[in-house]
Amino acid sequence: MKILAIDTSCDETSTAVTEGTQILSNIVWSQASQHAKFGGVMPALAQRLHEERIDWTINEALKRARVSKKDIGAIAVTAGPGLAIALGVGIAKAKEMAEGLKVPIIGVNHIEGHLLSPLAQPATSPPFPLKNFGEGEMKRVRWPALGLVISGGHTELILIKKIGEYQILAKTADDALGEALDKAARMLGLGYPGGAILEKMAREGNPKAYPLPLPMARQGENYWSYSGLKTAMFRLVQKTGIDLNKQQICYLAASFQNRAFQHLERVMVNTIEKNEPDSEILVGGGVAANMELRRRLRKLGRKTGLKIRFPYSVKLCGDNAGMIGVAAGWGTLKTGRTVDRRPRWRVDEV
Ligand code: AMP
Ligand code: MG
Repeated sequence: MKILAIDTSCDETSTAVTEGTQILSNIVWSQASQHAKFGGVMPALAQRLHEERIDWTINEALKRARVSKKDIGAIAVTAGPGLAIALGVGIAKAKEMAEGLKVPIIGVNHIEGHLLSPLAQPATSPPFPLKNFGEGEMKRVRWPALGLVISGGHTELILIKKIGEYQILAKTADDALGEALDKAARMLGLGYPGGAILEKMAREGNPKAYPLPLPMARQGENYWSYSGLKTAMFRLVQKTGIDLNKQQICYLAASFQNRAFQHLERVMVNTIEKNEPDSEILVGGGVAANMELRRRLRKLGRKTGLKIRFPYSVKLCGDNAGMIGVAAGWGTLKTGRTVDRRPRWRVDEV
């Protein structure tokens, strides 16, 4: 069955067509450049831009997948977590389409989308239709597995007992990892959202050039906290000077990124030791696009004996509707779910 999936949870307007774990098309229209001048996402602007663009992304997704509306067997839509008024645009459109086409509507948890994104497959690989879930591709993952979601809004390490049954093992007490990287980038005048440009600058910098503290270095806690590191970075940037030169920016970027990732790894290792999973870690979310982080996580995988699985393309790391369609494939097995906005919906409540 082909699913048309919509995600308008934050500042990307996205529509995809999926079949089982296969992504037939995945259109993402980012609003980031429109929000950049405010240094963050403006909810009312996000809502207006979603309304303006959603029809275009739907038509484009159908066209690229070479299917017509009558081929669609269900509509999936992100119900939460996310910005309430942004979520509302996608949900209203999904309801309108589901009623018009007389097909079911499936409300999907956005974090579950990120969590399962490493299991999505490109259209060129053989599809695994719904009835075969649990076989084929799925046989290659041994449950329980771990999932790491690292994005602009979330930093969570999740125990996946099986698909649809999740337990949050660790999460952030304050900023998400992507949010912390974005704020550091902003302090260095690199614009918004700055995670990707910070990575580029860090590649040319010496991570040990500037002293930054490793958060909670001596504690074996099972949560992350980025606020102290952020404050230390603010002071360091102020002390370094008003007009930073390229080398200073690169060194500061490298120092911050290094500490942020060390902290991520430290808490992961603590949590893994306490829970002793023995299969693999699925990694999703915008920060999973970072190549330095991928290198470090693979190393962590070798040390802990866990396989590390990333999404098959960088596009699947950031917000996109393809992952929502794939998660909805499993979601259809759950009946009786009404679709309303759930801005604070936790992944362990699905
Ligand atoms: P999402 O919330 O999943 O859409 O992801 C967006 C977040 O991912 C933002 O905080 C971005 O700065 C961050 N991000 C995107 N690309 C990279 C990268 N290459 N390195 C680090 N962070 C990134
Ligand atoms: Mg996201």
